[in-house]
Amino acid sequence: MTAFLEQVNSAFDRAAAHTSHDATVLAHIKTCNAVYYVSFPLRRDDGSIEVVQAWRAEHSQHKSPTKGGIRFSLAVNDDEVMALAALMTYKCAIVDVPFGGAKGGVKIDRRNYSDGELERITRRYTYELYRKRFIGPGIDVPAPDYGTSSKEMAWIADTYASLADGDVDALACVTAKPLAQGGIRGRTEATGRGVYFGLREVCDSAEEMQRLGLTRGLAGKRVVVQGLGNVGYHAAKFVQEAGAVVVGIAEYGAAIANPDGLDVDAVAAYRDAHGTVANFPGARTIPNTLEGLELDCDILIPAALEHQLTAENAPRIKARIIAEAANGPTTPDAEAILEQRGVLILPDVWLNAGGVIVSYFEWLKNLSHVRFGRMEKRFQEGAFRRLLLAVEASTGKSFTEAEARAIAAGPSEEQLVNSGLEESMINAYHQMHDIRQRLATKALNLRTAAFVSAIDKVARSYADMGIFP
Ligand code: NAD
Repeated sequence: MTAFLEQVNSAFDRAAAHTSHDATVLAHIKTCNAVYYVSFPLRRDDGSIEVVQAWRAEHSQHKSPTKGGIRFSLAVNDDEVMALAALMTYKCAIVDVPFGGAKGGVKIDRRNYSDGELERITRRYTYELYRKRFIGPGIDVPAPDYGTSSKEMAWIADTYASLADGDVDALACVTAKPLAQGGIRGRTEATGRGVYFGLREVCDSAEEMQRLGLTRGLAGKRVVVQGLGNVGYHAAKFVQEAGAVVVGIAEYGAAIANPDGLDVDAVAAYRDAHGTVANFPGARTIPNTLEGLELDCDILIPAALEHQLTAENAPRIKARIIAEAANGPTTPDAEAILEQRGVLILPDVWLNAGGVIVSYFEWLKNLSHVRFGRMEKRFQEGAFRRLLLAVEASTGKSFTEAEARAIAAGPSEEQLVNSGLEESMINAYHQMHDIRQRLATKALNLRTAAFVSAIDKVARSYADMGIFP
């Protein structure tokens, strides 16, 4: 299997060949700046002691703080955190979020631990990061990833705040916190919503759809999702709401299929109740979950883990679009096979950036200590009302109260967050598209265009700082 870091670096090298930056600058951008490895003892509920291993990688400080999730998974190692940290640097650059990239991991399968044990692990990990200055609002700001959620972020924020006593910005040390603890509306679903915005934009492109032999628009497209966790569930839900038909869901242990469509909420509720999607009523169960990726569909959304599409299964994939909601789901060998077959790959470094975009908004909110929209909502409503009165006076027509309210309503925090997310995802897509046009090579796929965009922006930062020419 291709090592994950090698996979990310080979995508970087392919893109670097399309730029004219100095080799030293490119080498500096590619290299991971720091990796912290720590192990610490955990007292289990039964009184036994276990040693837990954990990592945090900071890939680039061309912008501060660094930013990236923390995953709980048995597959965590230094190769994986360095690969994921590098992806974060490029991802942030692509969507114009002013952070460097980082990633953390704790080598555990969370299903084997009680809530109390997970809390002890998370708090101790935070303490270890704090001791080595690998966490802080201006240093390195974690978020959730595979196996973690807002609950762990709440423990991190609380531990950090108690250590950094008196730091008024302490809550900005981590994002995707619960709302009452400095979180922001729309963060939980942000990555999935970003996947939806990205897919909608691509499916709206007549040129792209014509090349793929698909009709324009997301409505009616048949979708298969792998992993019904935070990202997969929300991506599936938003595309379904937009009229796409979710014909398959591959989860831990089994996949299910129904060509007429699966109700995403009903499947999620069934999985929560039974611990599996197998035997979901009205659907065909596929015991080998990986085979679920080969179901007949238009769009495949891998939203679980890396290395799911390989040279082995790529020839049998039927989807015309691979929407990389997970990080690194397609190996380079698989990518070559899929592209040769004319499949469009929407790269992770762009498509799953929704989480970090809204995390950026949360961090800004924490630093400004005020909810978005709080200052201007009523003022804007008043201004719009006055405008409506002027329109009424000049036209002699009057709006109903419901119409006036709908037109004049000032923005809520959630609306502002979602509109900032939509704008960032769409802008980044068009930047990649422009790079493809500018370099005008057929071989320049979206991933390479995304990396060119990232490399150019990071190199410009170094040039602006006077570090490199
Ligand atoms: P999660 O833990 O919430 O969900 C993962 C889901 O995948 C779980 O439901 C799990 O049961 C399922 N799963 C595990 N192994 C599987 C397998 N072999 N086959 C099918 N399903 C399997 O994690 P998440 O936060 O949704 O992250 C998923 C992916 O998205 C990861 O690659 C992560 O790095 C990436 N990502 C997450 C975020 C975020 O904001 N959470 C942001 C960007 C990228």
